[in-house]
Amino acid sequence: MIKHLGLKAYGKINLGLDVLRKREDGYHEVRMIMQTVGIFDRIELSLEEEPGIRVETNLFYLPTNENNLVYQAARMLMDEFCIPDGVSIRLRKFIPVSAGMAGGSSDAAAVLFGINKMFRLGLTTSQLMERGVKIGADVPYCILRGTALSEGIGEILTPLPPAPQCQILIAKPGVNVSTRSVYTSLHADRLKPEQHPDIDGIIKGIQEQDIYQIAGKMGNLLETVTIREYPVIQEIKEKMLELGAIGSLMSGSGPTVFGLFTNADAARQAFENMRYGAASNLAKQIYLTSFYNAKTSAPECV
Ligand code: ATP
Repeated sequence: MIKHLGLKAYGKINLGLDVLRKREDGYHEVRMIMQTVGIFDRIELSLEEEPGIRVETNLFYLPTNENNLVYQAARMLMDEFCIPDGVSIRLRKFIPVSAGMAGGSSDAAAVLFGINKMFRLGLTTSQLMERGVKIGADVPYCILRGTALSEGIGEILTPLPPAPQCQILIAKPGVNVSTRSVYTSLHADRLKPEQHPDIDGIIKGIQEQDIYQIAGKMGNLLETVTIREYPVIQEIKEKMLELGAIGSLMSGSGPTVFGLFTNADAARQAFENMRYGAASNLAKQIYLTSFYNAKTSAPECV
């Protein structure tokens, strides 16, 4: 048994997000291009003699009980394998919360990976993914990571070649968006065909390793809902293009916006401008990062 494990849980952006229809069970059928980015939460798992799961986090407003996805992930495997020991989970958040970057799902994915390793449960990656989808639709992808096509409710994953490297500016305005309410307000069947993004065009761009084609085809159907409510998202998108991004888009259900830059100097200047300069009124959290495509297929230890 391993007594202590440090894990990195990476965030994601969507290079494309389309919603095909609402199923009878209430879930939405999606087609999304997922991409891991180099922003991560840190998770430390420690074995404790006293039974039970204890969660500690640096953000006072996050739950530390069964409502935290890290708790749910640990509970799921510890119950299934009747593990009598206790576990403490120290979660340090760096991925923006309620942002469309799958922070909570990625934390859950890392804990599934970590508990499997810590107690030598012997589950394969796909067995972890099957369990992960019960916690959240994005959890299987957060176990897989890299560049991938996500279909169904998020559980049908097809790995794609790593997207060509570029600089990514990420900006989250000071509003929190509930994924559930965005999907509730979306009426995908009432939208015109041209409002749906060209997911196949993005895949082609990835296969041809053409970052300009990817940037040109990027689109997110959920912008139709979230931008209506928070016009600042549109302002950030436009500002990023003005500052030299080759494409900009809202990630997931928002409100985080990202911009792709092929020029590292322009990316750095845009970062400075949006963080400290003339455009610093638009977003509260700003990051400069790049795509993360590890060869390993699961959250690694640190
Ligand atoms: P997605 O991109 O999957 O829609 P998100 O970025 O919109 O995710 P998260 O930050 O993953 O949203 O989750 C936000 C909500 O989930 C908050 O209400 C928060 O209280 C709850 N939550 C539970 N566990 C976590 C966690 N480990 N990290 C962040 N939020 C969590």
